[in-house]
Amino acid sequence: MTMDIQFYIDGVLAKNRRITAKTITLIESSLPAHQQKAKAIVDALLPFAGEAVRIGITGVPGVGKSTYIESFGMELAEQGHQVAVLAVDPSSSKSGGSIMGDKTRMEKLSLHPQAFIRPSPSGGTLGGVARKTRETMIICEAAGFDVIMVETVGVGQSEITVASMVDFFLLLMLAGAGDELQGIKRGVLELADAIAINKADGDNLEKAKAAQKEYEKALSLLTPESLTWQPQVFTCSALTMDGINEIWKAILNHRRKLETSGELAQRRRKQDLDWMWALVEEGLRDRFYKNVDVSKALPEIVKAVENGRTSPTAAAHCLLGLNDN
Ligand code: GDP
Repeated sequence: MTMDIQFYIDGVLAKNRRITAKTITLIESSLPAHQQKAKAIVDALLPFAGEAVRIGITGVPGVGKSTYIESFGMELAEQGHQVAVLAVDPSSSKSGGSIMGDKTRMEKLSLHPQAFIRPSPSGGTLGGVARKTRETMIICEAAGFDVIMVETVGVGQSEITVASMVDFFLLLMLAGAGDELQGIKRGVLELADAIAINKADGDNLEKAKAAQKEYEKALSLLTPESLTWQPQVFTCSALTMDGINEIWKAILNHRRKLETSGELAQRRRKQDLDWMWALVEEGLRDRFYKNVDVSKALPEIVKAVENGRTSPTAAAHCLLGLNDN
């Protein structure tokens, strides 16, 4: 078993693509034996991770995420970077396969020798998917990828989850007809380190420039999370590549600033702690629901609370007591 683990560790560190992909498959497996192995491998590779620029990318379906990631990824690969594209899509567990990060969506990039595209794990809960993606990120970094993009679709909670695992969160948007700010929840705007109004090409250019002004105004009303970084608004075209390089420059500039101020290290430390607590909570919940005494008593106790025979406090107390046994 130990030798087996060493095989994965060595393979990842040797930048062997096949073994890297196999390691990620172990991480994504729900078999306890695989999970145990994966944990040991991730732990061993942790000291070799952390060097990449971690970028989160979100936006509503159709905004141009995969086109953007393909164009941006190709540009970075041409510059000599090793680019990994991961995805967080909790809905993929239902369909049994993700549409996001799908190879057919990024045909050129998926064929590029310096790029690696992995669709979202289908891990059930958002927490489960996020854990696997975080661990996959560590594996990719240890395997020499220096730019990691994590894509998520702009609906629901997943943006917050992705923002909590990256250094730079990019929000892709469209110039809407009128109500620019409507489609987007306020909280997501606050997560953004940059907004890019995509499809700023052809007839759409004027509208995109107007939207840029709108969002600049909206962002100026928010208190920036960082002391040294004021979120910026760009226009770009994932089709023509206009503006894509400016955004990359901003990402590098952001990194330099946060590295110098110590905020980057601080941000990652906080993310690690948040992650730890999320895992503790997940573990506690898991243990609770898997406890035989709890699951035996649960229907009866739920009924008792519904009927008003037991107070919620007494019921919770009783269930937690059973869980402690
Ligand atoms: P996703 O659902 O966010 O991944 O969006 P896609 O990347 O699949 O893009 C949706 C549609 O918008 C596709 O038909 C793209 O060709 C088109 N598209 C993406 N980016 C641009 C762009 O910058 N300009 C224009 N004109 N069309 C774009």
